Parts: sequence; C-alpha cells; structure tokens
Amino acid sequence: MEFGSGLARIRNNGRVIAAQKTYPCSLQMYKIPPDGEVTLAEFDAMAVERLKILRAVERHNLSGPPKGSDEWVAKIYEEFHKAKNFIISTERISSTKMHEVEEARRSDHVSHFILRLAYCRTEELRRWFVAQEVDLLRARFLHTSNTSSEIRAFISENNMYFAQITSEEFLQERENLLNGTYRISSGDQLEGRTFYKVPFTEALELVRSRRVFLRAGYAYVPDTELITLIASAYRTSLSRALAHTSRALPQLEDDTRLFKMLQDFDRRYTGSDFSSKKATSTSITPDMLNTLSAKAFPLCMRKLHDTLVSVHHLKHGGRMQYGLFLKAAGLSLEDALAFWRLHFTKTMDHDKFDKQYAYNIRHNYGKEGKRTDYSPYSCIKIITGSVGPGDAHGCPFKLTDAPLLRQRLAAYGVTTAASSEIAELASKGHYQIACQKYYEATHNNTIIETGVNHPNQYFSESMKLMALGPNAPTPATKVELTSRRSVLQSSQSLNTSLLTPSLSSPLTPSSSSSSSQTPIKSSLDNTTTTTTTQSQLTSTTDADFDEFDDLDMDFESLDASIEQHNAAAAAATVSTVIASTTTASAEMTSSAMASAAATTALASRGSATTASSATASLATA
Ligand code: SF4
Repeated sequence: MEFGSGLARIRNNGRVIAAQKTYPCSLQMYKIPPDGEVTLAEFDAMAVERLKILRAVERHNLSGPPKGSDEWVAKIYEEFHKAKNFIISTERISSTKMHEVEEARRSDHVSHFILRLAYCRTEELRRWFVAQEVDLLRARFLHTSNTSSEIRAFISENNMYFAQITSEEFLQERENLLNGTYRISSGDQLEGRTFYKVPFTEALELVRSRRVFLRAGYAYVPDTELITLIASAYRTSLSRALAHTSRALPQLEDDTRLFKMLQDFDRRYTGSDFSSKKATSTSITPDMLNTLSAKAFPLCMRKLHDTLVSVHHLKHGGRMQYGLFLKAAGLSLEDALAFWRLHFTKTMDHDKFDKQYAYNIRHNYGKEGKRTDYSPYSCIKIITGSVGPGDAHGCPFKLTDAPLLRQRLAAYGVTTAASSEIAELASKGHYQIACQKYYEATHNNTIIETGVNHPNQYFSESMKLMALGPNAPTPATKVELTSRRSVLQSSQSLNTSLLTPSLSSPLTPSSSSSSSQTPIKSSLDNTTTTTTTQSQLTSTTDADFDEFDDLDMDFESLDASIEQHNAAAAAATVSTVIASTTTASAEMTSSAMASAAATTALASRGSATTASSATASLATA
C-alpha cells in the first residue's frame, strides 16, 4: 500500500476516489507498513492516541462485561465516542466526509506501526500489544458486522479464504450442527446460517470452549463466529511481525530522538494533566489531610500519609511522590512547608529541616534549581518505579502480599468479598483495576468510568463525589505560617486534627478503622521486609534516616532524575520544537522503506527526515 502515492491521487484526482483506493474498508490487518510523510509531532500524537485506545480496550476486558458480548462492544464504543478518536472516524462513510475518513484510516494505519516499534522490545510488551490489538479488531469487527459489504471488503482485501460447506454437507450434518454449535438450539436458528470448515487448529478458541462441531480434524464454524478465525489469523501474523521488528530494532538506536521517544512508551501516561499549571481550582490545607487521606486518597497516598504521621519522616522517594501529589491536590507551598516541618521537626531540629528538606519542597514547587514546575507522578510511573527496603512509596497493590493486602483492606472497612476480589486482581498484576475496585468499595460502588490512571485523578473523582469542594472539611485549626514560632504554637492543634478524623462520611464504610492514628505499617506490615515496630520508629534517629537521604542535597542529580522520569513528556516537547524549527526536514520521507543499512547511513547525517524514515522502515520488518 503506497501511502505517498495515495496522497498524490487525492490532490490530482479528487479525495473520494483516492480514499477508496487507499483504504477500502475501515478494518485493517496492517500487513503493509505506511509510506509517506508525517511530522514528529503528528507521530507522537498518533502513537499516544492509539495507546489510549488500547488501554481502554484492556480496561473493559478486565472489568467490563464478558468479552465479545454486545455489552462489551457497546462499552468500548461508548468510550471511543467520548474520546472522539480516529476509530470512530474510520467508520463514518459519507460522500462529504471521505477526506476525514481517509485521514482517520491513515492515522489508524500509521499509529499501529509506531506502536509496533514501541512494543516489540520484550516478550511481555509484545504479548500485551498483541492481546489488545486483537481485541480491538474483535470489537471493531463485531461493531461493523451488520454491514456485511464492509466485512466482505475486509476479507477480500486481506486475501482471507474460509471454505464454506456445501448444501449437501449441510444437510448431511444438520443434526450434528444443531447439537454441536454454541447458541444454536433450534432448526430456525440454523436456517440461513453459513458454516465454514477449517482445520481445528485455526479455531482452537472455539474448540477449547466447545462451541463448534468437530469432525475428522475440521471445525464447522458458523458465520457468527467468523471473528474468532480472523482474530486467530491476526494474532499469528502480528506476533510474527513483532518478533521480526524486534530483531531489526537495534538500528533505530542511531536516532536518539526517536529511540528516546519509543523507549519508555509503554509507561507513557495518557490521562489528564495534573501539573499545577492546569490544576483544578481546589485548594487544601494541612489540617484537612488526616480526614482526606482516609476518605479521598488512593491507597498509595494514604499509606504515605499514615507513615508520615506515625514516624514523622519519609524517605526521598516518599517525599517526592506524596509532596507532588499534595501540590497538585491544591496544597500551597507555604502550607506544604508548614506541614512537612511540623512532622519532620519532631525527630530533628529546625535548622536541619531548613537546610536539608525545605529546599527540596521549594524545588518541587519550582522555586529553586531549574525552577521547573514538576508534575505529580502517574500510576504507571509509581508502579514501575523502584522501591527499596524501608521505603513507603510505590503502589501498595503491587508491593503488598495478598493476605496482607486483604488484612489492610479489611481494616479500612472493605468487605471480605471486595477485599478478595481486589487482592486477586493485584496478585495477577492488574494494579490499577484493583485500585479502581478499591475506589468502588469505598465510594458506595461508584465507578470511575475512565479507570484509575493517576492518584490525583482518584482524588479529584473522590472529591467530586463527596461534593466536599475546596472548603468543605472544616479546618480545625489553620496553621500559622508566618514564623517558626507560630508553627510550633499551632503544631499541637494540627497534630490533634491529623490524628483524629473529625468527619464521618458515609462513603467510607468504617471511619473508625480508617483512623490515621493507627500506624498502618507497624500494625499491618509486620510480615514484610519493611517491618518497623512503633518502638523502633520512635527511637529512630536522624542518622538512620539520613543514611538513605543522600539524594537530598544533590539537586542537580534530582533535576536529571526527574527529567529522566519525564522523558516521554520531554520527548514530545522536543519533537514539537524540532518539528517547528525544521519544517522542511521534520517529515517522514516517501522513501521510508529504505533498508536498515541505508537508514543507519541516513540517520548519521542527523536529518529528522531520515530519522522518521528509519522508524517506518523498521516497522516493515
Ligand atoms: Fe496509587 Fe495508582 Fe496504585 Fe492506585 S493504582 S494505589 S492511584 S499508584
């Protein structure tokens, strides 16, 4: 499929004709890689859009209606419609919008190949990508199955052939087909059905679930199950293509921009932006945190808050994760300084706090160092981040053993059934789905439709639901911030507030059990390697803490570290800059199908054009 020449035909002969010739149907098997021009910004945008689509499919597979059911398809399409992505546009066939359809189908095509590059690196990534892509095709096929001409076009375009049984064979096997075919229980349902006879190895999914009649090594597959055969063929061809691509991938490393962009693409955050620039207008104060942590914080932040309240210290990773979360939740810099000071100065003197920790907090708010206004961590970043012994940060659904997690959830008032379901999801690696279930269990079964992908999203959903608004929890005592002395004076009342939840919300099943007065780690984590008893905690010295805090004063390293974590976002920015400053060169050339050797040679000249070509070329492998 020559994408470049397709565009030429649009300009010369009219868009409708060209669109029909280039992409005859909305569904694709992505057998031929795209060839044409795409800016780096577009490259990035299309990849992110497809990633969002695949994550939506995964989410509905894990927590939605049964896969393949009408409800499952409807749920997935509901999300596609809401997000207005290119999947929907590929299906809008009308003479007036064919150019849009063409563009959407092109985005579908190109984005698939970009993600092949990002997801071919490891077996685990390949497996995830194949699973979601196959299910995406399944949903789209089932959604368009009413338009039989569309399906016929798809089958013919991809040279797929499924042998139909003859009418004689149909009559001969009629009884067997009636008895052996899933969801066909009467003669009426059998009439008008088309059956395909395929080697049983091509319909293993149907054979495994005993949904088709088998004879002499052949499966008799009704037309209603055709998608199973197509999905099986697609899975095989895509798995093979990804394995080939991964072998050619080292050649992409010559282009550092694209390599960086694709390297951590699977960890790319695709949800709302919770950086302070775009933060909501809500604001919170330190005296609300005790209550909010029990009622509106996700488990990761609740654990950090409880640890801080218990031991009056968090290590670097915990301070970063919790501090940035609080910033995006609406805690001002002054309040943040007061809050951290209040706790830290219980185990160290004020000078030490000012020298070693206050700078760090101001740094997070963009007031020191490079003055970058750092974004709070997304779920993916938290889940994939490293956690050492004694750290309180990270995702509890990933880091806590199932029995301990069940115990902790029970202590928070989650029912036994819900705790078991959550622990099972977590043990299978579905941490964000487990978190979503935890939200439902603690919020009267209210669902977050888009799933949980950011702690601040969890918090803002919870706040919306509780309709607390910025000032709803009545501050017991507003912390004075003008001087250290005033902080000291107010610390007692603030501490009292933090340790004694004052609100009783119906959304939290057991407010008593959620009290932050109980040091969660010391009471529940007694089987983990991070076990710390209360007596040990209170006797812990500054030196003990500082042993792990060597990063505190190395703020240049911190800058570099955070920048590395935000590589994906930075890459997008760089791409945009490059695209705007090298308008002539930041395009994928029509010779993108160059060989890997040619790609390396071209990339060495430093041209953005060749870099993009390299990507397309590798995707062909
Ligand atoms: Fe926090 Fe996300 Fe884990 Fe939930 S899934 S506990 S929000 S990191």
